[in-house]
Amino acid sequence: MTNLPVLGSAFVATFHREMYNDVNSCFEKTVMNKIVFTDQLTTISELKRKVQEFIDERDWTNYHTPRNLAESISIESAELLEIFQWLTEQETKNLPGDKAKLDRIKEELADVMVYCISLANSTGIDISEAISSKIEKNVSKYPIEKVKGNYKKYTDLK
Ligand SMILES: [Mg+2]
Repeated sequence: MTNLPVLGSAFVATFHREMYNDVNSCFEKTVMNKIVFTDQLTTISELKRKVQEFIDERDWTNYHTPRNLAESISIESAELLEIFQWLTEQETKNLPGDKAKLDRIKEELADVMVYCISLANSTGIDISEAISSKIEKNVSKYPIEKVKGNYKKYTDLK
């Protein structure tokens, strides 16, 4: 496995599955022509490439401007929120057991994230660096000893 780094983690995941097929053929159909994407093995760079390929193949780059993408993130976020509209707090806690609703959440979450990734692609933002530096900022804004167990905004902390 270690001699395959140039293939990317999605390909390595496929390779793992193919190896597994040797002892259990039930996964054979899903493996033959499909690259497996999974949080455990797929890199952000691979997701960025997949999103960009989808856009390039359709010649949509002119539509994927930073402003259009920021608007699209907001629009898709509203679609995600709509799933929760009018639900009680208890109903939202039960969502993981509601397959139909969970599928809708999964789709809208993906829509939001695809536009986030496309915005990063169109602006050259490195997502990992951006998230990491933002969390570092939040660590200083929200010291554990002042916020543990409470949800005050940093401007209200003493
Ligand atoms: Mg949507």
